[in-house]
Amino acid sequence: MVDRFIARFGEEKIALLHSKLSIGERYDEWKRIEKKEAKIVIGARSAIFAPVQDLGIIIIDEEHDTSYKSDMTPKYNAKEIALYLAKKGNFPLVLGSATPNVDTYYRIEKSNGLITLKNRANNSKLPNVEVIDMKEELAVGNRTMFSRKLYDMIQENLKNKKQTILFLNRRGYSTFVMCRDCGYTATCKKCNITLTYHMKENKLKCHYCGYERANFTECPECKSKNIRYFGTGTQKLEAIINKTFPEAKTIRMDIDTVSKKNSYEDILNKFKYENIDILIGTQMVVKGHHFPNVTLVGVIAADSSMYMSDFRSNERTFQLLTQVARKSWKRKRRGKRHNTNI
Ligand SMILES: [Zn+2]
Ligand SMILES: [Zn+2]
Repeated sequence: MVDRFIARFGEEKIALLHSKLSIGERYDEWKRIEKKEAKIVIGARSAIFAPVQDLGIIIIDEEHDTSYKSDMTPKYNAKEIALYLAKKGNFPLVLGSATPNVDTYYRIEKSNGLITLKNRANNSKLPNVEVIDMKEELAVGNRTMFSRKLYDMIQENLKNKKQTILFLNRRGYSTFVMCRDCGYTATCKKCNITLTYHMKENKLKCHYCGYERANFTECPECKSKNIRYFGTGTQKLEAIINKTFPEAKTIRMDIDTVSKKNSYEDILNKFKYENIDILIGTQMVVKGHHFPNVTLVGVIAADSSMYMSDFRSNERTFQLLTQVARKSWKRKRRGKRHNTNI
């Protein structure tokens, strides 16, 4: 976005605010905004507090993104602040999204403020989306994570040197660990959700608060050794892919692999330029990147996020799957899409 705005308006008019800036850099940007040297401020959530003198418009792109709400103290929602500023200053607030939140859509419709983009960028077409019922796969004896069709299409892509993205919105190896004898499941004491097994460190982790503990081979309740691992996360998916398609070069992207500085960009650049066949990732792969050689996106367990304990889980699932499908909207060639349900 910064590159586009600089190309159009020139570098000296643009200020940039985000958490990767050093305090010094942030101070310089802050001063440039305050002195009215920078006319356009581009930034993440906290940019809503930029000291713009004669604010004339606020544009919030991808308004459905949950990261506009800050869970850190002081808690705030950048969208609510933007709405307040726009009302107070009597200027427009533009909320953009291909998958707006239902409450946003309701509010905008009520205020007659709805503007619809009827054509996609470059007039590109929607990719073909196909839903495959994994119950039917099971009925014909396919016990793998992939439908036969997805398997064939991955093979075909490997043969034709085309790239594939596999999307699974659960990190870690197994999603829960249970004692087969007494039913004990390891949960987080604070959050009351099941702990996820991470194979590399042999630890159980809470994906909500970050709590972690050592894995166990003996049930803490009944001392049984009959411990089983259920559910599949991205680590396990990667292991399965490497076993199923040994010739494929793969790379994984989730919070566990991008914790080091810059490695988010590193992974994406590797995928783009170093002949990686398959990118395996969580919702992180959904955010605005363009891969011209990707012709297939497989969504594993596409319906699993519908069972989250969140009143918005259906809405979120729709948004996520639509955004995954959009990964090829910007191309002229039609991408193949493929949703698998488990
Ligand atoms: Zn037990
Ligand atoms: Zn927790």
